[in-house]
Amino acid sequence: MIWQSVLSEDARAIKASEIRELLKVLADPEVLSFAGGIPDPDLFPVSEIRLIRQRLEQDEELHRKSFQYSQTEGYLPLRQWIAARYSTPETRLNADNVLVTNGAQQSLTLLAAALLDTHAPIAVANPSYLGALQVFEARRPTFIAVATDDDGLIMDDLERAFQQGAKFLYTIPDFQNPGGMTLPLNRRQRIIELAHEYDVPILEDIAYRDLWYDNPPPPSLLETEGRYLGKDRWADDGLVIQVGTASKTMMPALRVGWTIAPPGLFDKLAILKQANDLSSSGINQMLAFELASHHLPDHVQMLREIYALRRDAMVEALRRHLPNSVHFSAPSGGMFVWLTLPEGMDARRLLEKALDQEKLAFVPGAAFHANGGGDNTLRLSFSTCPPDVIEDAMKRLAGLISREARSA
Ligand code: PMP
Repeated sequence: MIWQSVLSEDARAIKASEIRELLKVLADPEVLSFAGGIPDPDLFPVSEIRLIRQRLEQDEELHRKSFQYSQTEGYLPLRQWIAARYSTPETRLNADNVLVTNGAQQSLTLLAAALLDTHAPIAVANPSYLGALQVFEARRPTFIAVATDDDGLIMDDLERAFQQGAKFLYTIPDFQNPGGMTLPLNRRQRIIELAHEYDVPILEDIAYRDLWYDNPPPPSLLETEGRYLGKDRWADDGLVIQVGTASKTMMPALRVGWTIAPPGLFDKLAILKQANDLSSSGINQMLAFELASHHLPDHVQMLREIYALRRDAMVEALRRHLPNSVHFSAPSGGMFVWLTLPEGMDARRLLEKALDQEKLAFVPGAAFHANGGGDNTLRLSFSTCPPDVIEDAMKRLAGLISREARSA
């Protein structure tokens, strides 16, 4: 059977992620990777999890329940915790607004299923999170790639996208993946104004929001919209749908994410989830709830301190060693530094040389561009290596880039 000929149009539209292909190379233990956007496993809260499991095993009824199918909408105490954590005096969220999902990735999948007709136009940042582009791609949309600068989305370009009929905007306002940018408050306010002027839903992905290293980020788009609308109006008039995850602050293997959605959309998302996987893992949601309610602030504080040192090591080494023709700016949180190489330098070819000559990996940036381009960009992640390793590796990478720039 030639499977290519029987595949559905949707399946044909979805492409292998460049990151997945790349991760295969990383099986080589000699390669030092700055490619994956993953948390450092050495920092996982394993002793806290051990304690939580012991406590759970002592409660026979709850322990048994943890292995049963759970409600499609999610484990109620976890939904209540999420609602309380993200509620504001204006939005007044409750558990009924929170759908627990199998990672933020499933949130995006369900939102695409709920909101996106085949070939519909949607607005995404250029560059944008590859995993989201991949989800949307399966529905064969028309991507409207919105330009960004060091502060994230550029408002005139976003307005153009809305004028062109974008069905929604997908955006990561805090420490963006892959660009590292954080939208300042005035742009957040402008996004909300534009959303309401053109009646366009906003999918706000807050995957990295808690990982700030200098100051907390400005209010989220959800909070900003709450203030814009005033008390108690979000449930009826809100356009911001917020997607969060436990992957970056707890552990990705929990596969616990969530969607905060207004009531008019919520039920449809819950039905789509039911059709998709019946429910998320009960035991994992319980672990996430216990971690969240007893250990999270201290754990996140520890992550901030350690990741901040790694961010500093990367930024300082790049500042010291990169030629002036390479542009980057220091991220104030998250996991990524985004480099723009001199025009004409191809990051894919650079990766081949980095692997071959320096045993170093990063992600070439082209894949993060919905409509092509970005051949001279790349993403570095500082989350998994100690500062001295980062310093040495960045010096070697910068050396390679300098040699390439000279020979161009
Ligand atoms: N959104 C962003 C911006 C991400 O970087 C990621 C993971 N790399 C996800 C969503 C998906 O996270 P998860 O499914 O693990 O919650």
